[in-house]
Amino acid sequence: MTVTCELKESWKQFLELVEKKCSSTEFHNWFSPIKVIPKEGDILHLEVPNIFVQEYLIDNYRDDLALFFPDLGNGKLPIEFHVKLDNKPQKKQQTKPIQKNTNFLLNKNYTFENFIEGPSNQFVKSAAIGVAAHPGKSYNPLFIHGGVGLGKTHLLHGIGHTIKNNSKNIRVQCITTEAFINDLIDNLKSKSVDKMKRYYRSLDILLVDDIQFLQNRLNFEDEFCNTFEALINQHKQIVITSDKPPSQLNLSERMIARMEWGLVANVGIPDLETRVAIVQHKADQKGLFIPSDIAFYIAEHIYLNVRQIEGAINRLCAFCRLMNLKITQDIVERVLAELIHKNPSIRVTVDGILKSVSNVFEVKASDIKGDSRMKNIALARQVAMYLAKELMDDSLQKIASSFGGKTHSTLLHAWKKITKELKENEKLHRQVQIIKRNLKG
Ligand code: ADP
Ligand code: MG
Repeated sequence: MTVTCELKESWKQFLELVEKKCSSTEFHNWFSPIKVIPKEGDILHLEVPNIFVQEYLIDNYRDDLALFFPDLGNGKLPIEFHVKLDNKPQKKQQTKPIQKNTNFLLNKNYTFENFIEGPSNQFVKSAAIGVAAHPGKSYNPLFIHGGVGLGKTHLLHGIGHTIKNNSKNIRVQCITTEAFINDLIDNLKSKSVDKMKRYYRSLDILLVDDIQFLQNRLNFEDEFCNTFEALINQHKQIVITSDKPPSQLNLSERMIARMEWGLVANVGIPDLETRVAIVQHKADQKGLFIPSDIAFYIAEHIYLNVRQIEGAINRLCAFCRLMNLKITQDIVERVLAELIHKNPSIRVTVDGILKSVSNVFEVKASDIKGDSRMKNIALARQVAMYLAKELMDDSLQKIASSFGGKTHSTLLHAWKKITKELKENEKLHRQVQIIKRNLKG
């Protein structure tokens, strides 16, 4: 089979899976209009009737797509979308789905209940809940910023869901900045910009995702700013997400000032406890049981991006189901190998180990090298020796002598003891993971 045929076949299989998962109306509305464009290469080309179909697919089915179309090593799905631009009747229909299908554009999993909170995101989550409860009356605009995969879109959709649930007639539009620009381009081409303006200015709530894409798009920035002002002046709620705070965006002073009018809130990287809770929650949602030591292992190793945590769970889930296996540490290590942050180029030294162990165990590095038999110092020493044997390539003799002239058999004894204890003692296991991470970071 050629690559193209394989891609087509994968697309067919993906559709079969989706058809089982969603209602027939959903399938008919969103999937039936998508066509595969026959093009050679290792990327699947899909023709979609409008940008909303593309966004819907990515927002709701990214993980399923990733199972059928693994990325080519660049973290992106190997799929290219082409918005159908040719025939007129299609164009006329384009403005309609915006108005009717707002609900569909919200990812159904991105609710406040599914958003796990911790110290890094408590503030922004409460602000989002406040805005959803009293749109236009609390903070306006609410500007949410933070790194990739930390839950900005999730909170934005959470606001959309809550508002929709509280009042069916309220006019909510959730849109990515890219889709806003594309919508504007389409309307410019079909000379219906006034209609589009009227539409946006008649909204009660405008939720805009990823405003950073407005940078360097001068004409669009003006149009967006006008819409923004028109809505705010009528006390209509606006929520914006961005990868940077307003002041760091390359936008006009006017636009930046507007965005700073209301509340600017940051979503930070969740701490270890919160990440563990996220792992457990995502696994629960998939009906997968993850023992707590494994949840810790995942949370300790994937720490910068919640989307990656989710990807890890999906991968694990698929692997264990396909192979009919129970989750064990070995399987997790194998399946997650590529995702886990390893940095082999950093050389581990005895001094580095001593420093890191002394921080975590709160004992002096000089005591670790010494001969004290006090329990906490002896344990720290054994952990340091264990790590040195595990992480360094030098001979045991050489490593042992770096610990204040200990012998090769003392080192081996320490290594055996800690290896055994790590299997039984969860606290020690966690401490060792933290030290390892410090050493590599
Ligand atoms: P961003 O828009 O900041 O790049 P997303 O909102 O798309 O990130 O989040 C990426 C994934 O991580 C989503 O599937 C989302 O549900 C999940 N996620 C992020 N933060 C949390 C959280 N605190 N609790 C539960 N899931 C989260
Ligand atoms: Mg996002």
